[in-house]
Amino acid sequence: MTASVAPLVVALLVLVVAGRRLLLALLTVRARTLTPPLSRWLSRWLGALDYSADDFVRADGAGERWAAVRRDAIERLAATLRARFQRSSAWGDDLRQRFSDLRFTDANRVPFPFARLAREKLNVCSVVTASAGPRLLDLDGRWTLDVSGSYGVNVAGFDHYKEWMQRGLERVRDLGAVLGPLHPVVADNVERLQRLSGLEEVSFHMSGTEAVMAAVRLVRHNTRRKLIVCFGGAYHGWWDGVQPGIGSERDISDCLTLKDMHRASLAAIRRRARDIAAVLVNPVQCFHPNAPPPSDTVLLTSAVRKTEDDRERYGAWLRQLRAVCTASDVPLVFDEVYSGFRLARGGAQEYFGVRADLVVYGKTVAGGMPIGVVCGRRELMRRFDPQRPMRIAYVVGTFSAHPVVMGAMNEFLRWVERPETAQSYEDANRRCAAWVRSMNERLAREQLPARIAHLGTVWTVLFTEPSRYNWLLQYYLRAEGLTLSWVGTGRCLSSMDFSDEDYRELEEKVVCSAKAMKRDGWWLSTSDQPGRDRKMRYHLVREMARSLVRAPQPVATFYAEVMRRKQDDHHASHSSWINQVLHLASSSVFVFCYVAIFSNLTAAMWLGLAALFARQIGHAVFEPPCHERERSLLGFTTRSKTLIVAGYLAIPVAHLIAGGSLGLGALTASAGGIAWHWFVFTLLVVFGRVGYLGWTHGVRASMVWFVKLVTDPLTDLVAYSPRRLVRA
Ligand code: PMP
Repeated sequence: MTASVAPLVVALLVLVVAGRRLLLALLTVRARTLTPPLSRWLSRWLGALDYSADDFVRADGAGERWAAVRRDAIERLAATLRARFQRSSAWGDDLRQRFSDLRFTDANRVPFPFARLAREKLNVCSVVTASAGPRLLDLDGRWTLDVSGSYGVNVAGFDHYKEWMQRGLERVRDLGAVLGPLHPVVADNVERLQRLSGLEEVSFHMSGTEAVMAAVRLVRHNTRRKLIVCFGGAYHGWWDGVQPGIGSERDISDCLTLKDMHRASLAAIRRRARDIAAVLVNPVQCFHPNAPPPSDTVLLTSAVRKTEDDRERYGAWLRQLRAVCTASDVPLVFDEVYSGFRLARGGAQEYFGVRADLVVYGKTVAGGMPIGVVCGRRELMRRFDPQRPMRIAYVVGTFSAHPVVMGAMNEFLRWVERPETAQSYEDANRRCAAWVRSMNERLAREQLPARIAHLGTVWTVLFTEPSRYNWLLQYYLRAEGLTLSWVGTGRCLSSMDFSDEDYRELEEKVVCSAKAMKRDGWWLSTSDQPGRDRKMRYHLVREMARSLVRAPQPVATFYAEVMRRKQDDHHASHSSWINQVLHLASSSVFVFCYVAIFSNLTAAMWLGLAALFARQIGHAVFEPPCHERERSLLGFTTRSKTLIVAGYLAIPVAHLIAGGSLGLGALTASAGGIAWHWFVFTLLVVFGRVGYLGWTHGVRASMVWFVKLVTDPLTDLVAYSPRRLVRA
């Protein structure tokens, strides 16, 4: 009895556990974003793919006319960048030689098939030595306009940070690097942060990422729930616990990534409230400042948003989120590492008029020093459980209240609280908004397919037309003298010291770069390239498939060897265009014969032989002799070729002699027999050679030769296609 009940109990248990998991998954299925699991899956399978110089300029299926324009353009751009970054590049090259994996801004946000050539050609290593206003001085002695914003740190203008760092250091000079006991300035900072955030407790960390980790750990500890809800497209630092997408190898079961600004996400939060420790949101997320630069993705998505609506739309979304979190008793965490003290001095809470239960700050708040801060409601910030002494949220850090950082932070916070600073925020946002308006009107007037979207002083370039080359704009902008961050045009920043004059200069640079992009053929309209979108999509899908379907290693190297030999052969003895035309014609006939041989051996052999003779005449008459190269390619020598030709000629002669008549009629009558003997002779010659090479050079070399021989007609059709012939 017990024995028969046991399996039943086990089965029931399995059903309950699996059933619960299934139920939980079903509760959130509509709200889930597929990007993280998909990119994790793709990262395992997608192999490296490097474009050749030709693929690079034809990745959207452009014709030869545009490919030629683009080839010239790349060379011109490369020369401009080389001249502009001469000393910086030499400095970078030197470092690269010593640390082979070293990368600067180069090709980080370039779609990977383009990256190798972009890195080789477009060297944009920029090394800087001084700053003044919104400008940076590089090693080559040129001032550039900086829109990188030091990853978001530079809100007020570089000169302010120089001053705050200096004064902060002076303030704690007598104490030095004493860690553990606190400098009195810490208490002042805490008080100011409480006021600015409107929250009760404050803790200090060493970076934005670390502060996010601390916030997550604290909410888990204090709610005794484990699930963190994030939104697709958000960046919360490099920790894979809240960034389960690209670059994350492990499956994460305690972070749920939901669709941004989607009703289904609100419903999912309500349904799973009992498991959710916090909803973590980056309030500039709607703007997708961390998304890859719009390039290929635009193809699969869409047109430009109306940027004026962003503040309103996102404010409304955050209010809805707030209401759902309150009703479901789920803490709402704002990751204001980027938006805090940038959008407004009270951060996104003030800008959107929504309050959070926990706020994470970073970047600018320490006046130019490295920092992460968590401010929160008291019950969410507890590190100890009063009822359970062994329950501890161990959140500490050696450098977390470093005196120099605290000193500089105090300078910043004093500045932020000055009444006139509120006006500076308004002015900076107003100037940037006015520039964006003027910029977009100009871009529209000039019929350039780019627009600017912004939130406060954070802005991004959006593209109105699909192109495989939108990412190239960042290089044109650099050539015009702009400094961009490693995300290129994906996210740019203006600091408060951008005057109207600076914005005018910026506008000129953007327009000039965009015009150059258009002139150089990277933005083709549908009239420039009929069927543009279809061709682009075709190329994208084909490349994806090529990257995904990888041949096993031995097959791949064998293939590479065959192709290398074809290239060598091509360079050794196919320089005359007449010979190339003869190859094109004979290859077309051979391909026909490959098919015809199964139905009409006689026609196939006669035609094939005629083509073979034409091909050999091409070599003998129009190309210089190249015996050495022929030998190195394991091909037939001139002597053996003569013998083979003699063999083919001897067969019909033998037939005629055996038939006792030398007339055309006799030849026609024995055409079938001759074809059959030619066929046998061909097999003997080819397989004789395979055997001979196998004996002298090994089986692999003989197989390479054989595969090359039988596939030559097919690859020659491509190599000597009329399009390429014209170009040559
Ligand atoms: N959160 C957000 C919203 C960020 O933008 C960043 C950095 N860009 C981080 C967290 C991580 O901050 P840090 O680079 O200081 O670790």
